[in-house]
Amino acid sequence: MKTCIATVSLSGSLREKLEAIARAGFAGVEIFEGDFLGSDESPRNAGRMIRDLGLEIMLFQPFRDFEAMPEPQRRRGFERAARKFELMNELGVDLILVCSNTSPVSLGGIDRAAADLRELGDLAETAGVRVGYEALAWGRHIRDHRDAWEIVRRADHPRIGLILDSFHTLAPKIEVDSIRAIPGDRLFFVQLADAPQIEMDVLQRSRHLRNMPGEGDLPVVDFMRAVCATGYDRAISLEIFNDQFRAGPPNQVAIDGHRSLLNLMDQVRRAEPALELAGPAIPPPARTKGVAFVEFAADPAESAALVGILRSFGFRRTGRHKTKDVDLFAQGDIRIVVNRESEGLAGSTRHVRGTSAYAFGLAVEDAAATLARAQALDGERFKEMIAPGRLDIPAVRGLGGGLIYFLDGRTLPAVWSAEFDPVEDAGGAPGGLLAVDHLAQSMTYDEMPSWVLFYTSLLDALKKPEVDIVDPSGLVRSRVVESSDASLRITMNGTENYRTLAGRFLRESFGSGIQHIAFSTGDIFAAMAAFKASGFRPLAISPNYYDDVESRFGLDPAFADRLRADNILYDRSETGEYFQFYSPTLGDTFFFEVVERRNYDGYGGPNAPFRIAAQKRRLQSSGTEAY
Ligand code: MG
Ligand code: MG
Repeated sequence: MKTCIATVSLSGSLREKLEAIARAGFAGVEIFEGDFLGSDESPRNAGRMIRDLGLEIMLFQPFRDFEAMPEPQRRRGFERAARKFELMNELGVDLILVCSNTSPVSLGGIDRAAADLRELGDLAETAGVRVGYEALAWGRHIRDHRDAWEIVRRADHPRIGLILDSFHTLAPKIEVDSIRAIPGDRLFFVQLADAPQIEMDVLQRSRHLRNMPGEGDLPVVDFMRAVCATGYDRAISLEIFNDQFRAGPPNQVAIDGHRSLLNLMDQVRRAEPALELAGPAIPPPARTKGVAFVEFAADPAESAALVGILRSFGFRRTGRHKTKDVDLFAQGDIRIVVNRESEGLAGSTRHVRGTSAYAFGLAVEDAAATLARAQALDGERFKEMIAPGRLDIPAVRGLGGGLIYFLDGRTLPAVWSAEFDPVEDAGGAPGGLLAVDHLAQSMTYDEMPSWVLFYTSLLDALKKPEVDIVDPSGLVRSRVVESSDASLRITMNGTENYRTLAGRFLRESFGSGIQHIAFSTGDIFAAMAAFKASGFRPLAISPNYYDDVESRFGLDPAFADRLRADNILYDRSETGEYFQFYSPTLGDTFFFEVVERRNYDGYGGPNAPFRIAAQKRRLQSSGTEAY
């Protein structure tokens, strides 16, 4: 199946769009008429430029308000079509999209529409082009692909076929299995888009909120399974109308789009083995076993504060790198690497961003297969010079230029003994921390769909519905990606506003990255007691919060007092309870969280505004400019 994308999906001039599309690896492009009319290239030159970029023009669109018109509109429709067919010949494209008529003067009637299309087929034959008919979800008379197919069937012309668009079928919830009965050779083209599941007028949702397959909530995989069952194997094309994409960088949108199509077809191949669909053999989505380690690039001066917090949490230094200024700290299943090197990626990261958690290792079943899947899905492999004796741990670029390493049973735990000398460290009292519960990443709102797609396509992981978090300075949108066994949990906070705490993180740390790391414990009160004995002071939460939480959940006053005394935040769901506390921020932006889950699946979302308010108060009182 060839990959294609409509020029309307991207921002920029026609040339910028086409270059981004070619670079991302698409085979073809749909030319949206408005994009062509806006450029000053002649049709022949535009066609040549597109072919020189290695792209095939697969579709010209849209041709509106054609079928079932009264006179004189009917005659004028044929004249318009004849001119478009000429233009198509000059551009070098043989397929045009006719979408169902939305004009209030159109007459409707399946036979009338079929007769018009048959006559248009004769005209197309003379011009040497083909016509695909698509049902718009808001067409005047035709808004269902089943009716559009009936018109194409009755038109009964080799130059007239059907175009399916997942949005127009899935948004109005039209049954996808109805597609399976359509002969694949009458299906001329397939357009794909996803969209969030929100209550909104279908036309507005289509024009502003479409997104890449896998980024939204529509069952695009089921749609595509039905399409493939017809035997259709020409091209799949992204037709994405999205305000963010049209404002964002065309390269990233094109890369995400290409990845979304590769991932979609991989899902279809796995779901429909009997169809024996052609395509690359890609390893399955990687099963994760949690976060194996987090690596900090640390400024030598700031690393003392970081190590101070780790020690108060009961971490012990267990390893010293054989050749580099790198220490390993461990507790339970948690490994924290503190890298003070001034060379390499760690060095350049800390020079630009200060101390930051720039890399993490993901424990997976098969690291080589995970890397192969990442690369098959257009992931960028990262390779730093490997020192002698060092294990070659595969890594790809993560958010904000950071790294994600893949480790499996072969490299874990060998990596620690291969790279580190053991260190005798009596340490303080053990803190009872068990594992990394979740990583929280901050990013701009338009980066979020990219990273949702990255994680959910690479890993055996699902996204949860987006929720809004109220920051006193603006809205932060939050989305969680979780592996199916919840061993990996990543929370993503997207902000458009630099005055929010997430936005402050972006500004102060020069871009997106890991904003906090949450550790799990089996007994949060015992952990707090041990940490305090080692000199830890948690983030102070307003006493008003505890009055509210006590009345909201009807807590025993003595229990609420205990929470208050320890600055522990509390939440309750239908199934269980959640306890959490925070460290002060390190270098103004990064912090740790400690959580105890008692049969609870969330992240304490209702507590986030209180945590943010407490952090902002602290920044203000420490004399730092407040945001
Ligand atoms: Mg369409
Ligand atoms: Mg958290």
